[in-house]
Amino acid sequence: MRYRKFKADLLFTGEKFLSNENVLITDQAGKIINIINVNEAGEDVQVLKGIISPGLINAHCHLELSHLKNKIPESTGLVDFVFKIVSERYFPEDEILAAIERAETEMVKNGIVAVGDICNYSTTVSQKIKRNIGYYNFIEISGWLPEIADVRFEKRKAAFDEFEKDNLTASIVPHASYSVSENLWKKITPLFSGKTVTIHNQETPDEDILFKEGKGDLVRMFEKMKIDNSFFQPKKTGSLESYFRNFSSAASVILVHNTFTQQQDINFINQNKNEDQLISFCLCPNANLYIENALPPINLFLKNHVNIILGTDSLASNHQLDILEEIKTIQKKIPEINTETFLKWATINGARALQMEDKLGSFDKGKEPGVILIENVAEEKITAQSKIKRLI
Ligand SMILES: [Zn+2]
Repeated sequence: MRYRKFKADLLFTGEKFLSNENVLITDQAGKIINIINVNEAGEDVQVLKGIISPGLINAHCHLELSHLKNKIPESTGLVDFVFKIVSERYFPEDEILAAIERAETEMVKNGIVAVGDICNYSTTVSQKIKRNIGYYNFIEISGWLPEIADVRFEKRKAAFDEFEKDNLTASIVPHASYSVSENLWKKITPLFSGKTVTIHNQETPDEDILFKEGKGDLVRMFEKMKIDNSFFQPKKTGSLESYFRNFSSAASVILVHNTFTQQQDINFINQNKNEDQLISFCLCPNANLYIENALPPINLFLKNHVNIILGTDSLASNHQLDILEEIKTIQKKIPEINTETFLKWATINGARALQMEDKLGSFDKGKEPGVILIENVAEEKITAQSKIKRLI
């Protein structure tokens, strides 16, 4: 059998950097055979400039919103952003499908091998059955009025069944604390067992204000959407405390955005999570800058040693679907984070959160994680000029 052999300035394994004396060996299809010393690698070693890494994981996207690229203005704040998405997402189906295909092609080119993708409908199924990228499909449900729980559940369950029919991995997940009633939580909670689930968490400070005081900008959103919020009684607790225990049977929980998460929320998670459960904090910095012009408290997450992962969110709130661009944005803000740490977030951490670590996220023997080259690095650091070249 003919092997493929790669060597570069640095080899990132998914966990750590190895020096340029190491050669990555794969079969023709990209299955990892071994990492060996250059002296034992024989001929035909491809010598490259930059960092070799496993393919990247985009833990949060909405592929079905790809047609909204450049359609939603920046810095509107979350309430007006959500309102615009809800009211402006309907386009002719052929335009939506063409945008989905373009967006997936962009992700492949940008070295992304797996995506945690939010789906409200089954529109993306026809693209996903091509299996160019691995997807964990999160069939997202919302419904704030208690009396619409049954109708909403049946609709999303039908979409979920479409994914299952084509053997696409899927789970039913809540949209956010402020859009799912207790009745709806009761319907979906029994379905979480063993799954990866996700929720948009603390994307605006108004989430906590709503749950503690029954006030704030989300009340304005209910009024704008003509939703009668008079039934809602504030819980006196924060947003995260209001729902987190509902996830107790899930194998993996991805909290997305976390722009306004505080130490007390992390403490609550540590006290209430199951021992064998993985809780991940997904950062989508470019979307946060686009919508709220704010960044999550990354130093707080680092201090607490939580599982950090990265996402692009959708093209409705980002100019590209490119995990490397998310890294660059954080690096600009916190230059002391090293590249090894960033690449861990973008590879093995994300693969674990999506329960795909048996195949993806690192160069362990037998995996097929994709192989990428990060070019234009300087002194082991990603730079503004860095870009991805796909090797496998
Ligand atoms: Zn999102």
